[in-house]
Amino acid sequence: SKTPVGFIGLGNMGNPMAKNLLKHGYPVIAYDVFPNACKEFQDSGAQLMESPADVAERADRIITMLPSSPNAVEVYTGQSGILKKVKKGSLLIDSSTIDPAMSKELAKAAEKMGAVFMDAPVSGGVGAARAGNLTFMVGGVEQEFAAAKELLTCMGSNVVYCGEVGTGQAAKICNNMLLAITMIGTAEAMNLGIRFGLTQAVAKILNMSSGRCWSSDTYNPVPGVMEGVPSANNYQGGFGTTLMTKDLGLAQYSATDTKTPIPLGSLSHQIYRIMCAKGYAQKDFSSVFQFLREEENL
Ligand code: NAD
Repeated sequence: SKTPVGFIGLGNMGNPMAKNLLKHGYPVIAYDVFPNACKEFQDSGAQLMESPADVAERADRIITMLPSSPNAVEVYTGQSGILKKVKKGSLLIDSSTIDPAMSKELAKAAEKMGAVFMDAPVSGGVGAARAGNLTFMVGGVEQEFAAAKELLTCMGSNVVYCGEVGTGQAAKICNNMLLAITMIGTAEAMNLGIRFGLTQAVAKILNMSSGRCWSSDTYNPVPGVMEGVPSANNYQGGFGTTLMTKDLGLAQYSATDTKTPIPLGSLSHQIYRIMCAKGYAQKDFSSVFQFLREEENL
C-alpha cells in the first residue's frame, strides 16, 4: 500500500488537489490554519493535523498550496513549521506561487535538514484542479523529478521540468502576467460588445476568432456567458484578485530586476491593485469585468 502524503493548504486549489491524491489511493495527512478549510475536508478520508510539524512527523512527502511567500515561510520555517520535524530524505513540494528567490531560500533551509525542496506551481484554475488536469512547472534537483512527478500526475496532466529550484516559479510568473493581460482584455472586448448590444454573439465570435484565449473560452468574465465559472457565481471561489495582484507584483519585481519592459504587465498590476482597494480583493480576478462596468460611467 502507498505511504502517506502530507498536504498543507486546503483552499480553493489545495482542497480538490488533495482529494485527487486520495482518489489515487494515497493516504493524506492534512493541515490548514483556517478551521473552515479543514471542516470541508473532514469527510474526505484525510487525517487532519494540528500543525505543519505534525504533518512532517507523519509523512515524508509533503505538498504545500499556500497563498503567498510569507505563508510559505511560516509553514516551512515557523515555530511549528515543517522543518522543525522533517524526516531526513523527505521530499517537500511547494505548489504555491511565490517569489522564486524565496523558493531558493526554502530549498537551502530544507537541504540543511537533509530534505529536498522543489517548487511546482500550477496553472489551470479550480476547474482543472477538480478534473486533475493541472499543468505543473517544476524546479529543483533533476534526480528528484521522477519522485515528484509520481505524485503530481495524480493532480495534473502536464508535469514539466523547468530547471533548478525557482525556475518553476519563474515560468509561472510569466504565464500569470499574460493571464492578467488577457483577462482584462477579454473584459474590455466583451464590454464593448455589450455596448453594441451583443453579449452571447460577441463571446461566440471571439471564441472562433483570433482574439480567442483561455480568459474568453474557458473562464469568460461576463455573467451568463458560461456555466461553472466564477462569473456565473457572483465571482466567488476561483482565483482571488489579491492572489493575481501578488503574482503581478512578482512579475514587476522580476522585470525591474532584469530591466525588462513590461508595459502591459505593469498596467495590469495597477488595475488589480486598484481593484483590491475598491472591494474586489476577495472576489475572483475575472471580476475585472464588473470593475470596468462600475468605472465606465464616471
Ligand atoms: P486560497 O486562499 O483559496 O487557499 C490557501 C489556503 O492556505 C487557505 O485555506 C489558507 O487558510 C491556507 N493557509 C494560509 N496560511 C497558512 C498557514 N500558515 N498554514 C496553513 N495553511 C495556511 O488560495 P488558492 O486559490 O488555493 O491558491 C493557492 C496558491 O496557488 C496561491 O499561491 C495561488 O496564487 C496559486 N494558484 C491559484 C490558482 C487558482 O485558480 N485559485 C491557480 C493557480 C495557482
